[in-house]
Amino acid sequence: MQTFDYVRAQSCAHAVNSASTLELTRYLAGGTTLLDLMKLDVVKADHLVDINRLPLQQVETLDDGRLRIGALVSNTALARHPQVVTHYPVLAQAIMAGASTQLRNKATTAGNVMQRVRCNYFRDGVSPCNKRQPGSGCAALGGLNRSVHAVLGTSDHCIASHPSDMCVAMAAIGAQVTLQNPQGQSREVNFADFHLLPGDTPWREHALEPHELITHVTLDAPLGTSRSGYLKLRDRTSYQFALASSAIILVMDGPTVIEARIALGGVATKPWRAVEAEQHLIGQRMSAQLMSEVAEMALKDARAYAHNAYKIPLGQQVIARNLRDLTAQESV
Ligand code: SF4
Repeated sequence: MQTFDYVRAQSCAHAVNSASTLELTRYLAGGTTLLDLMKLDVVKADHLVDINRLPLQQVETLDDGRLRIGALVSNTALARHPQVVTHYPVLAQAIMAGASTQLRNKATTAGNVMQRVRCNYFRDGVSPCNKRQPGSGCAALGGLNRSVHAVLGTSDHCIASHPSDMCVAMAAIGAQVTLQNPQGQSREVNFADFHLLPGDTPWREHALEPHELITHVTLDAPLGTSRSGYLKLRDRTSYQFALASSAIILVMDGPTVIEARIALGGVATKPWRAVEAEQHLIGQRMSAQLMSEVAEMALKDARAYAHNAYKIPLGQQVIARNLRDLTAQESV
C-alpha cells in the first residue's frame, strides 16, 4: 500500500480546494470501500481528504416536496428516517437489504452512490481489467462471470454489474445529485445520468468532473398514494450482493396502473431504469399476462455471457414476482 497525505476538511470549500491540489486525491467518508481497495492496491491515492466533519448529515423536506439527503447521512440513518420510512419505503427496504449492520452504520449516502464494482478481476489487482488499468483488457469476458457480471448495459470492454441496492431504489424514485467544484460552484446531475455505461471507457464510472464533491442527493417528491417494494434475489439471504433485484413503485386505481416505476439491480452495469416496461404498464389492467409481458420487455436487450445466462430469466422473475406481490398489497 502506498503512502498518502491526510487532510481533515473543515468546510466543503476547504475539501474541494484541498482535493484540487494533487492529482490522485480521494474523498474519505465512511471508507467502507475506499480503504479496502487502497489496502489491496487496487485504488491508489496520494492525498486523502477526510470529509466526515462536514455539515452534510441532514435529511430535510424541501418546499416542493422533495427530500434532500446530505452526502454523509449513514445508510442506517437514512433507512430509519421517518420521512423515508413513510414516503419512500422502497428505499428503506433496499438499504436494509444491503451489506451488514456494521457496514450500514459506517457507509454514507454519497459513498454508496460511488460504490465500486465487485468483479473479482478488478479487485485482485493483477488480472487484465480495463476499469482498473485502461486498455489492459477484461478478464471477465473469458473468465468466470456468473454472479457479479451483468446482462444489460455491457460492452466488449467491461461487463461488471453495479453492486448497490440503495441506488436501484433511487433510480426508481428519481433523484438529483448535487456536486460542488473547486471554483465554489454547485451543479445538479440527474441520477439517471450520474452513473455511466462502460462503453469503451469503463474506467469512467460517473459524471463527476475532476475533484467535484457530492454534497447532496435529492429525491423526487413521492408519487402520492402508492405501493412499492424492493425484491432482491441472491446466493444467500444476508450480506450478499444481488444476482437480480427490482425496485418497483405503482400507483393503482383499482386494478388499473396509473403510474409505474421499475428499476433493476444485479443484472446491469448501472442502476437500471426499465422505462419501456414502465410505459407498457401504464393504463393497463394488472394481470399475470401483463406481468410476464413487462418482465420480458425489461430484459429484451439482455446479452448473456458464458456463466450468467440464468440472469435473464431471473431478472424477469424478480420483476414479475415483485409486481405480483405489489398487486396484493394495499396502497399507502
Ligand atoms: Fe475489469 Fe469490468 Fe472486466 Fe471486471 S468486467 S475485469 S471490472 S473490465
